[in-house]
Amino acid sequence: MKCVNCSGEAQQVDSELDGIEINCPSCGHFGVSASVLRQRSGRTFDVEKTRVFLHNERDINPGRVPVIDSENVIWE
Ligand SMILES: [Zn+2]
Repeated sequence: MKCVNCSGEAQQVDSELDGIEINCPSCGHFGVSASVLRQRSGRTFDVEKTRVFLHNERDINPGRVPVIDSENVIWE
């Protein structure tokens, strides 16, 4: 599938999440909540800011997959 953030080729990962989990060579392993997926039609994330957000989340919570939800999503 295409990465929800950068639209590059990425893999969808099996997930317990209400949403999807993606492993992207450029953005890493992250989740996107179902509510953000619903809000997403016709919109895109700010790719660089979202990568920085994911990077920071991994620093704060090592070992935990960061999830983009409606509280923290960064729209372009
Ligand atoms: Zn990506």
